[in-house]
Amino acid sequence: MLKDTNCGELRASDEGREVTLAGWVNRRRDHGGLVFIDLRDHSGLVQVVFNPKDSAAATAVAEGARGEYVLRLTGKVTRRRPGTENAELPTGEIEVHASGAEVLNPSKTPPFYITEDTDVEEMLRLKYRYLDLRRETIHGNLVLRHRVVKFIRDFLSGRGFTEIETPLLTAPTPEGARDYLVPSRVHAGHFYALPQSPQQFKQLLMVAGFERYFQIARCLRDEDLRADRQPEHTQLDLEMSFISNEEDIFKLTEELYHALATTVFPHYRIQQHPFPRMTYAESIRRFGTDKPDIRYGLELVDFSELLRESEFAIFRQAIASGGVVRGLCVPGGAAMTRKQVDDLTTFVQNYGAKGLVSMQFGGEGSMDSLPAEDIRSPVAKFFSLDQAQEMGRLAGASRGDMLLMVADKPAAANKALDPLRRELASRLELADPNVLAFAFVTQYPLLEWSDTEGRWMSVHHPFTSPYLEDLEKIESDPGEVRSHAYDLVCNGWELFSGSVRIHRRDVQERVFASLGISPQEAQRRFGHMLEAFEYGAPPHAGIGAGIDRLMAVLTGQPDIREVIAFPKTKSASEPLTGAPTMVSQQQLDDLHIAVTEVEEEPSL
Ligand code: ASP
Repeated sequence: MLKDTNCGELRASDEGREVTLAGWVNRRRDHGGLVFIDLRDHSGLVQVVFNPKDSAAATAVAEGARGEYVLRLTGKVTRRRPGTENAELPTGEIEVHASGAEVLNPSKTPPFYITEDTDVEEMLRLKYRYLDLRRETIHGNLVLRHRVVKFIRDFLSGRGFTEIETPLLTAPTPEGARDYLVPSRVHAGHFYALPQSPQQFKQLLMVAGFERYFQIARCLRDEDLRADRQPEHTQLDLEMSFISNEEDIFKLTEELYHALATTVFPHYRIQQHPFPRMTYAESIRRFGTDKPDIRYGLELVDFSELLRESEFAIFRQAIASGGVVRGLCVPGGAAMTRKQVDDLTTFVQNYGAKGLVSMQFGGEGSMDSLPAEDIRSPVAKFFSLDQAQEMGRLAGASRGDMLLMVADKPAAANKALDPLRRELASRLELADPNVLAFAFVTQYPLLEWSDTEGRWMSVHHPFTSPYLEDLEKIESDPGEVRSHAYDLVCNGWELFSGSVRIHRRDVQERVFASLGISPQEAQRRFGHMLEAFEYGAPPHAGIGAGIDRLMAVLTGQPDIREVIAFPKTKSASEPLTGAPTMVSQQQLDDLHIAVTEVEEEPSL
C-alpha cells in the first residue's frame, strides 16, 4: 500500500512512530516558513507540520499543494506543544512532522468547500457527488449506514434467517405505486416490471420452506418524490413462517431495532421499551396520522360533541354535515401574537384547511376562575364563558394556553392538524432530538375507498390477511374489515410496514374480488400465488423496512438523500450521470419501441 497508517487513527500513544500517510489536503496554512496541512483520509484528519529544517523538499511540496491535492508523506508522530492541542479532533494531541512528501495527484479547485458543511445548492452537490461525499457529515452517514446494515445482517443470521436474492426483472407486484417497466427485446411488446418490493417472491420462499428469509432489497416505485421518497429505495425485506400472529413479528423486530439503536447509536434514549402498540384508529384519533411523533403530547381533541349546538355557524354547520371540530391545546400559546397565529392559519391553509380558529386563555390560575375578558378569540362573541371553560377543560388547557381548531370532514381536518402539530412541536422545541420514540401501529383497515379509482383499494397490499372473523363483511361492508397489517413508526417516520399474509387460496380469491379483480384477471396476474397456496403454504408474515428512512431518523437528517450515496433529484434525475438519457434509434428498434414524445431539455 502507498500508506501504512490511517490519518484519523493516530493517537498520543503513537508518539515517536515513523509513519507513511496518504490522503487529501483538507486545509493548508502557511506560517512564513512553517507549513501546516490537515491531511484527510477515510478515517479522519491529522495535522502535518512541514519545517524546512526537517526537510526542505517536503516543505516545498507542501507549499505548492492546494486543497484536495492527493499527497503521500512520511514523518514522525510528535506530541503537540502544550496549549496547541485540539480537543475537538481525535488526533488533536499529536501532529506529524514531515520528512518527505510527494504529490500523487493534483486537484482543480472544487466547486464548493469540502471542509465545511456549508449550504451548497443541491444540484451542484449531486453533480459533484464524489466531492460532496468527501464531506464529513455525509461521509460519516454512509459509514454508519454500512454499520447498520451489517448489524441487521448479523442479527438476523444469528436468528436463523437466510438471505436470498430475488429478481429485479419480474412481473408487477402491486404496492400502490406506478411500475418502472423494462421492455423485452426477445418478446416484442412485452415488459418486465422492476419490483416495487419482493413481496410475492418472499411469500413463495415461505411456501418453499425457508421459514425465515430476509434480503437487503432494492425496491423501485415510480411516484412523486418527497423528502422521504426516492425512485429506488432500500428495504430490509423479511418474512417468517409459522407465526401465530403479528406479536411474533413485533417481538423479533422490537429486539432488532432496540439492539441496533443501543449498539450503533448509544447516545439515544429509547422512550419506551417494549415499544407501545396502538391501533390505527387510536393513532388517527390522538394524532391525526398513522405516523405519529409521540416524543411530545399536543394530542388532538375532538370538540364536536360539545359544539354541536354552537352559535358559531361555521362549527355548527360543519358538524351537522358530518364533519368535526378538532384541534389541540398549545401550552403557553396565550403568549402568541396575532401575527404568529395568522402565520399558523396560513400554514394549515397550505394543507387544505379552510381556516384555523384560535382561543387564548389569558391570566393565571384555574380555568374555573377564568373571567370572560381573559378569553381572546376572533370568534369570542359566539361562545359563552361556560362553553369556553368547557372547551378548555376538554383540551386539558390551563390559563396561559391556547386552543387551535379546525372544522372540516374528519380526514380533511386530520390532514391539516397532523402537520400543524408537528409545526408547533418544532416551533416550541418539544421533540427531544436525543430520544427515539418507537411505536407499533396495528389493525389497519383492509380496504379503503378510492374516489379516483372508483373502487376499494388495499390499504397495505392485496396479500394482507383480513381478520378472518371480519371476512363475512367483505362484500357487505368492506370498509369495516380489519386487517393484520401493521407499521413501526419512530419520531414521526414510518420505519416499516408489514402484515400477516393470506395463505389460503379461497381467502385470497375473496380479497381479490373485493378489489374488483375478476377471477380471470386474478388468474392472469396472480395465478402463480393462488396455485402456490394450494401446495401447503405455511402461515406467514413479514415486513418491508426502509433502510433510508431508518438512517435518516438515526442520523437526524431531514431528507433521505443525506444517507444515500447517489440519490436522484426531486424530478427523478441524476445530475452526475445525466440519467435518464435518450437512447439511439437502433436501441429503440431492438426493443420494438416507438417514442411518441421527447422532452426538449429535461429539467433536472
Ligand atoms: N411489501 C411491503 C412493502 O414494500 C412490505 C411487506 O408487507 O412486507 O411495503
